Amino acid sequence: MSAENQLRFVVEPHPSPTPIDQIAIELVNPVFGRVFSDHMVTIRWTEGMGWHDAKVEARRPFEIEPSCSVLHYAQEIFEGMKAYHGEESKISLFRPRANARRFRESAERMSMPQLPEATFVEAVEQLVEIDRAWIPTAEGASLYVRPFMFASESFLGVRAAREYIFCVIACPVGPYFKSGKSAVTVWVSDQYTRAAPGGTGAAKCGGNYAAGLIAQTEASARGCDQVVFLDAAQHKWIEELGGMNVFFVMDDGSLRTPPLLGTILPGITRASIIELARHEGIVVDEAPYTFVEWQADAFSGRVTETFACGTAAVVTAIGQVRHATGEFRIGDGGEGTLTQQIRTKLTGIQRGKMTDPFGWVHYLSRANCPNNIG
Ligand SMILES: *Cc1c(COP(=O)(O)O)cnc(C)c1O
Repeated sequence: MSAENQLRFVVEPHPSPTPIDQIAIELVNPVFGRVFSDHMVTIRWTEGMGWHDAKVEARRPFEIEPSCSVLHYAQEIFEGMKAYHGEESKISLFRPRANARRFRESAERMSMPQLPEATFVEAVEQLVEIDRAWIPTAEGASLYVRPFMFASESFLGVRAAREYIFCVIACPVGPYFKSGKSAVTVWVSDQYTRAAPGGTGAAKCGGNYAAGLIAQTEASARGCDQVVFLDAAQHKWIEELGGMNVFFVMDDGSLRTPPLLGTILPGITRASIIELARHEGIVVDEAPYTFVEWQADAFSGRVTETFACGTAAVVTAIGQVRHATGEFRIGDGGEGTLTQQIRTKLTGIQRGKMTDPFGWVHYLSRANCPNNIG
């Protein structure tokens, strides 16, 4: 066992936490990513010293130099996960070890130090426990947890930084799409791509998002909610959305999703849907699919449903598809039957309302939870 596994978290609770009645107000219809809980977790990494200074404290601004490396060279990665208030006021996370592993893989790709997976999970648990009063109980609501890491060394020069800060913050969230509508409209970008072979498409790094924003702006200008990105080499193969993976339901009842060949983010929701569907006897093909095929299959009825998936929006039907030369509809333009079934099953497992045959639900131990709140 290395010293890294023996990191102790120093807990310094907020001197004046948000009163319970004020939190209750904040938890009514929270706008995604605007309201944050009282605390944060930080762990530092310095070359030669490794991981140190693990802390749970009041959320506060960072003090960084203008020469802080991340501001110039974008060494930054993040994760997104949710904490739920389940039955009997039990608190759970969904597959946090999968996020921990992906975070390590993203770090490796971005030449950043790898946080031990157990430490990642403990950091998330520490924040969720201390801010458990911030977990909404309403249908469809949860506490969104955002672990991230950035290069904090002050220097200009192109090399991997020698100092990093790992941090976890959290915000109460309701449904991801404001309108709460049953299906979204997507824009297929034929001009911009998000990831190229050999690039960082499979790493969850901020830079991928920065590169995709222009296409998102284009989508919004055309009345679309999200962008569908095609492959960088041929602008032909469907890859994924800006922050979600994509599935197609075929008329024989099977599912199809683009394979993970390095340019697509390996979504935990994607992996869970594949496992869940196969468990139910549904055939899932991880096979390349072109935009032209999608369009033809939507017209012919060979594709009956299409949905996007990710932690934030879980499972969201795609009803309408716009592109440079026209648009087409999927099915009747609303949420299809299989999409709805998968969404209900997955959210049911996540929220502890349905049995979890996969061991995905990770309960926080009640030992550390004060029982006078929540
Ligand atoms: C985070 C993310 C997803 C979804 O991953 P989940 O683990 O399911 O939340 C899909 N695509 C991109 C580009 C992402 O950043």
